[in-house]
Amino acid sequence: MFLHQGASAFFSDYIFLMTSFSSLPLSQSQLDALRSLGYETMTEVQAQTLSPVLKGQDVIAQAKTGSGKTAAFGIGLLHQLNPRFFGVQALVLCPTRELAEQVGKEIRKLARFIPNIKLVMLCGGKPIGPQIGSLAHGAHVIVGTPGRIQDHLRKNTLKLDALKTLVLDEADRMLDMGFAEVMKDIIGQTPTSRQTLLFSATYPDGIQQISQQIQRSPARVTVTATHQPNIIEQTFYEVTESERNAGLLSLFQHYRPDSCVVFCHTKKQCDEVAGLLRDNQITALALHGDLDQRQRDQVLVRFANNSCPVLVATDVAARGLDIKSLQMVINYELPRDPEVYIHRIGRTGRAGEKGVAVSLLTPPQTPRLTAIENYRGESCRYEDISSLRLDSGYALTAVMATLQIDAGRKNKLRPGDILGALTGDAGLDAKHIGKIDIFDMSSYVAVDISVYRQALNYLANGKIKGRSIRARLIR
Ligand code: AMP
Repeated sequence: MFLHQGASAFFSDYIFLMTSFSSLPLSQSQLDALRSLGYETMTEVQAQTLSPVLKGQDVIAQAKTGSGKTAAFGIGLLHQLNPRFFGVQALVLCPTRELAEQVGKEIRKLARFIPNIKLVMLCGGKPIGPQIGSLAHGAHVIVGTPGRIQDHLRKNTLKLDALKTLVLDEADRMLDMGFAEVMKDIIGQTPTSRQTLLFSATYPDGIQQISQQIQRSPARVTVTATHQPNIIEQTFYEVTESERNAGLLSLFQHYRPDSCVVFCHTKKQCDEVAGLLRDNQITALALHGDLDQRQRDQVLVRFANNSCPVLVATDVAARGLDIKSLQMVINYELPRDPEVYIHRIGRTGRAGEKGVAVSLLTPPQTPRLTAIENYRGESCRYEDISSLRLDSGYALTAVMATLQIDAGRKNKLRPGDILGALTGDAGLDAKHIGKIDIFDMSSYVAVDISVYRQALNYLANGKIKGRSIRARLIR
């Protein structure tokens, strides 16, 4: 008994030491900052990346938001800084201003006990003058979005020739957003001796290529999903190829989701499946690489604001999908790669909510199921499609409608202006107004389907911020 207690105490001490920040060669001020933040032990991504990062090695890490990745590269870049030299030594590129702001905040917290560290945020959508002023006083760390950083390089208001650490955060999203060329231009202006840390939620081909071009023998780290796998209910249904469409409709009629993403292999399949669903009283839109940027934005906006309950998407197209938690994912066809399967279903069941993932499988595709079972190290739940209880009267239509307004960020339009106009002069109840998305040149507002005519009539004749605008319903 005594021996047993001693042994378990030894093991818990051992595990603590293995994952404690004090096992790393960090300065006392860095350890103090971590303690003051309440970071007791390393998260998985930190435990796996910090050792190569602190040695100055390049790292490519597959990790999502919520994994503690920001602190992983934040601690790394602060470790390399010379506070007495007022030149840019670390640059973090982020896909969006929102992410850049989060990252900047976290790095400032991590640097709170290191005197005189200056971090400057360089994001688009903000006036450039004050940024130029800040840079003129010298900066150690820059966090920002690619477009604005390129602007500063062109204006010569930013120099990267003393850069030690370059971080690409959410690199897959940056590629999705079309930043590949801008990123290459920026990286071309940094010294080749730099350390490059690449973080990405997924590993598509584009990421591998960019890693090969800009990194030197990077340490590869993959962190298993941050969600609990057991809160995603996964079921597989066997169908023949000719039963696949009927099988898909049966899944809707049995599970009756309020919203759902259906994953397909090809663009053509997406269009066909979306058409099939629409023919069967299920409002659905296809999302794939043939859509132009505006069409793609509109599909994503409509799905996120509840004016389209079902999205039929390819893996590549769905990568930019920024939905916190999906109720249900359907694999119309199973992917060949088990990692893709895990990534697809990982979109449900987040933040402690239960998710449902169901997959259709034809007999010749059984090896794909076996690959998933091997990858997960457990067997999958397999049900007979004839066991589903079907509701033949099932229909799934949108509760909201999306109105597009031909003014946006560039016209200084803010969500409050739209909300104010619709609830004020147009006389709508605030409870009938949903998500508002503002883009550069246009904006989208979701309104309850019962009042969309009233909203549209007002917008056709009324004004927002004293300006006449044009608005239309998106179908
Ligand atoms: P991220 O994945 O970087 O967005 O981080 C997710 C959250 O985890 C942030 O709120 C961090 O402040 C927090 N965090 C990061 N590292 C640790 C740690 N070692 N212990 C506790 N919380 C952490």
